[in-house]
Amino acid sequence: MAQQNKEPEICVIGGGAGGLTAAAAAAATGAPVVLIEKGRMGGQSLNGGTVPSKALLAAAEAANAVRSGARFGVKTVRSGIDFTAVMAHARQAAQAVAPQVSAERFVGLGVRVIAGAARFKDANTVEVDNTAIRARRFIIATGSSPIVPAIPGLADAPYLLPQTVFDLSDCPRHLIIIGAGNIGLELAQAFRRLGSDVTVLEAEIPLRREDPECAGVVLDALAREGVKLLTGIRVVQVRRLLARIQVVIAKSEGGEQTIEGTHLLVAAGRQPNIEDLDLDAAGIRHEPHGIVVDKYLRTRNKKVYAIGDVVGGPKFSHVANHHAGLVVRNALFRGKVAVDRRALPWVMYTDPELAQIGFLEDEARAHAGTIRILRWPYRENDRAVATGATNGHIKVITDRRGGILGVTIVGAAASENIAIWSLAVGQKLKIGALAGLIVPLPTYAEVGKRAAITYFMRSLTSSRVRRIIERLRRFGGNG
Ligand SMILES: Cc1cc2nc3c(=O)[nH]c(=O)nc-3n(C[C@H](O)[C@H](O)[C@H](O)COP(=O)(O)OP(=O)(O)OC[C@H]3O[C@@H](n4cnc5c(N)ncnc54)[C@H](O)[C@@H]3O)c2cc1C
Repeated sequence: MAQQNKEPEICVIGGGAGGLTAAAAAAATGAPVVLIEKGRMGGQSLNGGTVPSKALLAAAEAANAVRSGARFGVKTVRSGIDFTAVMAHARQAAQAVAPQVSAERFVGLGVRVIAGAARFKDANTVEVDNTAIRARRFIIATGSSPIVPAIPGLADAPYLLPQTVFDLSDCPRHLIIIGAGNIGLELAQAFRRLGSDVTVLEAEIPLRREDPECAGVVLDALAREGVKLLTGIRVVQVRRLLARIQVVIAKSEGGEQTIEGTHLLVAAGRQPNIEDLDLDAAGIRHEPHGIVVDKYLRTRNKKVYAIGDVVGGPKFSHVANHHAGLVVRNALFRGKVAVDRRALPWVMYTDPELAQIGFLEDEARAHAGTIRILRWPYRENDRAVATGATNGHIKVITDRRGGILGVTIVGAAASENIAIWSLAVGQKLKIGALAGLIVPLPTYAEVGKRAAITYFMRSLTSSRVRRIIERLRRFGGNG
């Protein structure tokens, strides 16, 4: 018979990016909180996701910087990559963050942490091993897992997943990647820079959900670095041949081709972790893409909320964090805070980086009818000229009244530069606020300010004002 525990206010299922934030925020209000985690605390963000992958990218960037030192007049005497040390760096980065998400830390915050897999018993009860937990509110934050497509031969071939690449001991000589999404492309560039030949296989148009002109800048940069991208193909078979892997693809124009590599990485998307939860027992609706929630992130069972990757939609740590803050307010304080999907930025950490918030051009046109598009190139930015990072631009879409509908930045530090636009979209600021922003010089952030100023260029009637702005633009002032 299951043990019954004192009823907590909140029971959080899953100790990853979303669940940990929710548990900490709820505990900070003094509410009794239970957190159930079946694996390692930190979720995929820490264990094979965000943190180690960004550490790997940093190592790859360092390798690239050494190779490209000559353009700054810096001669490289000898360069080499100690792959074991690179991987140790990626793992150490994750280890350095681990104490912040440890069970001990959360116990210290007043959270009761239970190790085990949670499963709903009925609409009001979750079971973990022999413990039954009835809570006033439940928050499901069980994340997602990689999709492994049903390709003949794949199950019998050794393949890597995005979270297992960090276990590699040798740098792949030829890495074949199935999937040109953000994770596939980030890893493609990283391994290319670390010395692998890389071939990426993609069934559709790569980055098809991004702004095509900005995505094109990234794809061109990857091609120049030697990442081979084959698109519009279908993988029909995977074969293991001694120490090599053969991937047979069907080409859109007809015919088959065999690509031979030393390693295969499957980065073909992610699916929600819902199978073990017995959601039906609790009356929670779910679909293949995730748990169905309303705009307040509440499921059909009004006691239960769901956040992060498990609800489908954009799969990012900061989205899970944002959801967590929102549901704690809704669940504990009967709040009615809705998710504003338009105000969620996302970033692909390739070089150049691609960052985006709000509507893309087509969506903006459908939403607002008449739109204005403002652009500013990195090549006209002093900081970019100084660092040689002149590849890229910002594209800002406004409505007729200067309301900011969407922003895409492709270029150096796009991940940092999008933050101010995130504030602008979230707070519904007009483009004038960004045009009037005082930014330190020289910074990449000035690219955004410059684009914002162009909004006013066309409507200025005074040629004197126009001349002043033009002069300030030329001499890099803040006007
Ligand atoms: C290689 C890689 C790189 C990435 N890079 C980035 C990036 O740069 N930026 C970014 O924002 N995002 C990135 N992500 C995505 C990010 O890691 C996820 O979006 C984020 O971790 C989702 O948080 P979550 O809380 O929904 O799920 P998770 O962090 O995955 O946490 C879910 C937790 O629930 C636990 N769990 C599952 N089922 C149960 C159960 N029945 N009972 C108890 N516990 C359970 C799991 O063990 C896990 O710990 C990356 C992902 C990968 C794989």
